[in-house]
Amino acid sequence: MEIVHVAAECYPVAKAGGLGDVVGALPKYQAELGHVAKVVMPMYRTKFLYTNEWELVHEGGQQMGSHFFHYSVIKEKTNKLGFDLYLVDINGLLDREKIYGYDDDTERFMAFQIAVCDWISKWTHQPDVIHCHDHHTGFIPFMVKYCFAFSKLAGIPTVFTIHNAQYQGWISWDKYYYLPAYDSYKWGLLDWNNMINPLASAVKCAWKVTTVSNSYLEEMRYAANGLENLFEYERGKSLGILNGIDTQVWNPETDNMIVKNYDKELVEKGKMRNKKELAGQFGLDPDKPLITFIGRLVGEKAADLLPEAISQSIYQHHGHANFLILGSGDPELEDRLDQMKHQFKGYYNSYIGYNEQLSHLMYAGSDFLLMPSRVEPCGLNQMYALRYGTIPMVRTVGGLKDTITDFGDWQGFGIRFNEASVWDITYSVGRAIDLYNNKPDLYSWMRSHMMTIDHSWDGAAQQYINLYQSLK
Ligand code: ADP
Repeated sequence: MEIVHVAAECYPVAKAGGLGDVVGALPKYQAELGHVAKVVMPMYRTKFLYTNEWELVHEGGQQMGSHFFHYSVIKEKTNKLGFDLYLVDINGLLDREKIYGYDDDTERFMAFQIAVCDWISKWTHQPDVIHCHDHHTGFIPFMVKYCFAFSKLAGIPTVFTIHNAQYQGWISWDKYYYLPAYDSYKWGLLDWNNMINPLASAVKCAWKVTTVSNSYLEEMRYAANGLENLFEYERGKSLGILNGIDTQVWNPETDNMIVKNYDKELVEKGKMRNKKELAGQFGLDPDKPLITFIGRLVGEKAADLLPEAISQSIYQHHGHANFLILGSGDPELEDRLDQMKHQFKGYYNSYIGYNEQLSHLMYAGSDFLLMPSRVEPCGLNQMYALRYGTIPMVRTVGGLKDTITDFGDWQGFGIRFNEASVWDITYSVGRAIDLYNNKPDLYSWMRSHMMTIDHSWDGAAQQYINLYQSLK
């Protein structure tokens, strides 16, 4: 099959979170299964662009409202990532360093989607499926069906994957004219609560909708930032496919971003060497259990609870654990987490910012990884933690619920708690300290057992292929 993935992120070209990891891995595994997988994304000005070789494959122009724009499409020459990678450039809109966060993100991603549809409509053949990811590509299922300029594409099946339903890309109706001319009877397919809503539109128009875990699929019917009824209504064409992890990138045996490689047999020594490196860098005590958090500092991840939960844990458990945070997001929270370094010197430290290399070292050198998320569609961090022998401490929600069991249950290998609250986190920290200090056999069994759990993409990649084939 020929599959075209369209997305705003793709690791290692540009990544802000799990979406990038998924779009960087799924196509590679689909290609390994013998299919032609292509990724199309905006041409941001990231390091990857300047350090690789490209060829120009298409140039074109289209209208966005009254604005005519030129675009070009380049292709990575060497198939370095294991799939065909295409970047779309639009001067003045996509030629930026960051992926998101600009005032004109609406215009940027609208123009990107128009360019992608225009380019594919110029092909001499048609792909078997267009697979769109998250709201930045949510207009495509509508555009291929109902925009006159792309009528040639109307028969191509579209699949839409929701990696996060909190962000929907809302646009006010006064910008309706940005969309290329379409069958105006169909305007309702763009609308949700008097706003143009690309995520809702994709759920209505795509042939199939997937999300990244079964539990999240269920939860969206009760909590989806206003779209609950839509998910209930479209249940029949929706399914959950749990993300995998790229086991070539995330492998403690070969990872060159950590200081000591290790496997299941050498886990204890290997992790201790990495932990000592972290402890040295951040002024922590390698003999105490190290509990870390890696992620976006936003409400969804319950990052706002961290300052209080960490202070309480340090007081209540008499400083028997150390904490380290890597994250960026809400500026006020960033400040607080940074300031706390001085108050809890020797017990707590943080790195505010995005640092891929440090994240690898933390998965390898931590004893526990904390994820108190309020919402977690799939979550990749806990799967990386498993692979690196780091015990996940997770709230029972979404993909965390589907991948982690509590050590109190039969063959359990993690720590689970029910509420995103300071109390639940503090209590779980107590359980972690007890496990680390008083239950060495169980602790070491959990570590080596979790490293054997297979969360590779092989199974999920095939599930997507089966889904595409069902649309033929
Ligand atoms: P989300 O996509 O909601 O942010 P996921 O758990 O699906 O959450 O994916 C998060 C990914 O982003 C993981 O690969 C994680 O290691 C990475 N990540 C998040 N924040 C940072 C950071 N500050 N520095 C490095 N990597 C980060």
